[in-house]
Amino acid sequence: MKFNSLHILIFMIGLTSFAQKINRIEPPNWWVGMENTQLELMVYGKSISDYAPVIEDKKIELLTVKRTENKNYLFITLDVSKSEVGTFKIDFKKKGKRNNFSINYELKQRSIDSKQRNGFDSSDAIYLITPDRFANGEISNDIIKGLKETKIDRNHDYARHGGDIKGITDHLDYINDMGFTAIWSTPVLENDMKESSYHGYAITDLYKPDPRFGTLKEYISLAKKSKEKGLKFIMDQVVNHIGIGHWWMKDLPSKNWINYQKESLNGNLIVTNHRRTTNQDLYASKKDKDLMNDGWFVSSMPDLNQKNELLATYLIQNSIWWIETLDLSGIRQDTYPYPDKQFMNDWAGAIMAEYPNFSIVGEEWSLNPLLVGYWQKGHENKDGYESNLTSTMDFPMQRAIVEGLNEDEEWDKGLVKIYEGLANDFAYANPNDIMIFPDNHDMSRIFTQLNENVINTKMALGYLLALPRIAQVYYGTEILMNDTAKPGDHGLIRSDFPGGWKGDKVNAFTGKGLSKDQKEMQSYLKKVLNYRKNSEAIHSGETVHFAPDNGVYVLFRIIENEVVTVILNKNSKNIELDLTRFEEIGLQGKNVQNIISGKSFIWQKKLKLEAKGITILTTKM
Ligand code: CA
Repeated sequence: MKFNSLHILIFMIGLTSFAQKINRIEPPNWWVGMENTQLELMVYGKSISDYAPVIEDKKIELLTVKRTENKNYLFITLDVSKSEVGTFKIDFKKKGKRNNFSINYELKQRSIDSKQRNGFDSSDAIYLITPDRFANGEISNDIIKGLKETKIDRNHDYARHGGDIKGITDHLDYINDMGFTAIWSTPVLENDMKESSYHGYAITDLYKPDPRFGTLKEYISLAKKSKEKGLKFIMDQVVNHIGIGHWWMKDLPSKNWINYQKESLNGNLIVTNHRRTTNQDLYASKKDKDLMNDGWFVSSMPDLNQKNELLATYLIQNSIWWIETLDLSGIRQDTYPYPDKQFMNDWAGAIMAEYPNFSIVGEEWSLNPLLVGYWQKGHENKDGYESNLTSTMDFPMQRAIVEGLNEDEEWDKGLVKIYEGLANDFAYANPNDIMIFPDNHDMSRIFTQLNENVINTKMALGYLLALPRIAQVYYGTEILMNDTAKPGDHGLIRSDFPGGWKGDKVNAFTGKGLSKDQKEMQSYLKKVLNYRKNSEAIHSGETVHFAPDNGVYVLFRIIENEVVTVILNKNSKNIELDLTRFEEIGLQGKNVQNIISGKSFIWQKKLKLEAKGITILTTKM
């Protein structure tokens, strides 16, 4: 049996006798002052269902006690609406007083501004980090005895490399100076898996950071220090599946905790068909729908059955527990279309009820804007599905940008793809709250996608950071990290950030050993991000763009007192751009400044553009 520090703490303060009776209580604590005043405790211990829990504290109402087929679990639902901060006692009683015992459970004070916390929005540029590969801040946690994957090997793309929570904490100033305003780290909860445990999406304990990433204390400290620097902190969560090494798998709470539980336990693995359109398809067969939602993501990730109400509540409370514990500004939810979709609505709805200004971004990897739009709150869906998800991911626009830059200019190819991609915004309930990105931890690096063309990479980044979107950039994009040797290889995509390990010859934090191109990209992105940080035109301005013409596409972001102009030019020779076409924007005679070079000029009839590249101008000096 494994214990984490919290559970040990409960033991120390809580158990008055017969400590062996209970191995876990989850959530390990709760708060008073929540909107939802009901609390479900999962109590795990040998034959615990033989006991009857009793609470004498008049301020705690014991609503229900539920038992499952597994005698080692009890689910206790409480009403804590009248409760006070502090601990209360739960007595576990059984025939024959000799066996009775008690535990104490803690209710903490919810911070005053917890409910009104703000999420992330279009004013944010999020730095996405794969923590095992960013920086090794603590070598003493590289190898932890007792966990299944015991080695670290930086030469192996799928082994652990030693990066950790402390490594991120150590480099918050770098992230902040670059101009990012938020951090999203891929999951750091325990992944006690035999191999590939570095990626974090096979969680084996939903209440405990992986000790190779650090302690709960270090995790809380990272979130706190991020916030102190003005960086919002976003947690990556997974409610669709767990890792096969999860402690539940040795002693499942009920017969239907996992989808295809019986089949899988009999060695008959049933994997999802990944046909995500079955969530919307008017003609989808039940067979296909069931397999999509209930099949296992992969053989090492059992699919959770969120239709089980005890589990559904467990998962919702787990998300809220982390929001309160880490003081989160947002959640990124993995594989959003895979769980039961009604549950996803309940899950997001429960969170938004506790935190009305919070943000949640869900991953629907689709190039079809109809699907991206379907999941966003406020979208009118034909099947009546009303989503509570504030943000979705713009995979369609990401693809349009890459194709548009890679292709030669033709009537229906090149920049027109980007222009028409953005034209799809009419289909979204709120395009400003959709997340755009050049790449992420699951796809080829943008530099590789753009065939290692530095100019195209600058064009992609400069353009997408000016869009009416939440922006996300993957760590290392600023120094042209690539996976060109094996395009699309996940281990390679998530390469080590140079300078994150003691003795690294190249150090991207200080610039030591970077190539000219890398330095230039880092400096370029820093300028764009720092401009974006304070640009109301980009955060909330009107958007106007002009159809690409002669290899040039121009986009404006406009607000009172600030106009941002983004010009994408694909011509291989210097050209003169006729500015009279953009008369409706009203820039004639105004002083504009190039945000990269710092040079200013008066907007007149013509603008000389040097061969291929991006020009970003502002009227705000
Ligand atoms: Ca480490």
